[in-house]
Amino acid sequence: EEIPFFRDTWTEIDLDALYDNVKMIRNALPRNTHMLAAVKANAYGHGALQVGLEALRAGAHGLVVALLDEALWLRKHGIEAPILVLGAIRPSDAGVAARYNISVPVFQTDWLEEASRSMKDGDVLKVHIKCDTGMGRIGLRRADELKEVEKMVSASDKFLFEGIFTHFATADQQEECYYQQQLQKFKRFIDLLETVPTYIHAANSAAALCHHDSLFNTARIGIAIYGLSPSEERQFIPKTRQVLSWHTKIVHVKKLQAGECVGYGACYKAREEEWIATLPVGYADGWLRKLEGQRVIIEDEFAPIVGRICMDQTMIRLPRYFPVGTEVTLIGGRQDLFISVDDIAKKLDTINYEVTCSINFRVPRVFK
Ligand code: PLP
Repeated sequence: EEIPFFRDTWTEIDLDALYDNVKMIRNALPRNTHMLAAVKANAYGHGALQVGLEALRAGAHGLVVALLDEALWLRKHGIEAPILVLGAIRPSDAGVAARYNISVPVFQTDWLEEASRSMKDGDVLKVHIKCDTGMGRIGLRRADELKEVEKMVSASDKFLFEGIFTHFATADQQEECYYQQQLQKFKRFIDLLETVPTYIHAANSAAALCHHDSLFNTARIGIAIYGLSPSEERQFIPKTRQVLSWHTKIVHVKKLQAGECVGYGACYKAREEEWIATLPVGYADGWLRKLEGQRVIIEDEFAPIVGRICMDQTMIRLPRYFPVGTEVTLIGGRQDLFISVDDIAKKLDTINYEVTCSINFRVPRVFK
């Protein structure tokens, strides 16, 4: 349902672009590879429910999220497709996950024992054994641990051994040595299994698009479905489109005389007569202070941000007078006049993932 909003700042989520991106990536993968769409962190800031539904419509087999809460939220909003939680959950929450048919990672026998004790009769939890092959985050690291975990999972009617997975630390880099080490380690883990589970997965976007030997039978694709590159070092074959754009409207325009100042610290000083506009967007929206000096798009031109970005407002210097209500694009635009998520990431000294994830709940998402 549409929730009305009363501010002139919003992001547009181009679901057609998302659909095409998912299709394109799906088609770039072998037919028998399951594609799981990563919609954690509110679909990297794009809106988990709408993105999830669209990705499934476009051929994704299921969804992955980081938290049990995110998975439950999707279930409560009607998503019935497979959902895997990537992060560790509490053993005491195993029953909830089971009852909502949510798959979770396992990698410790203590956890399995505790989970088993906490689950009700009849609860069956789908589990994916998580192997740490070099990411150093969560997962088991030794063969004996794998054997014990598998044995315990198989011996208990509370668990269903549904998958095994790992995560690459360097799949986005040109240098492949570390990637190969992780891949070999994971293959050795798979060879040790008594039973082969339904899903075997390792690839994120970068691995799936660059290394077909990483696919096994399932890939977890996040950043690429949003039309963003997982790597600064590598070019990817599918020509995806950026799904997110960010817009606002001028709420005030004034003419400054030479020497008059703008913003906290009065750091910007007009050099001549200048048209300065105020935009109702600020760092509390995820439009961060470090973006001072970044340019935005107004009609057919760029205009620079001047002065410090405030919590809720930003000032720009207009190339000429524009009336209140004129639309301004912060991210997006058209082919010949475009601000990419990567442009913003560069200005912020970070990666595109962090840019879209930082656009917070205060900014309405408009789905088109
Ligand atoms: N798998 C795991 C375990 C992850 O943590 C992530 C995201 O960080 C992904 C897959 C998706 O990665 P990407 O967005 O690079 O495709």
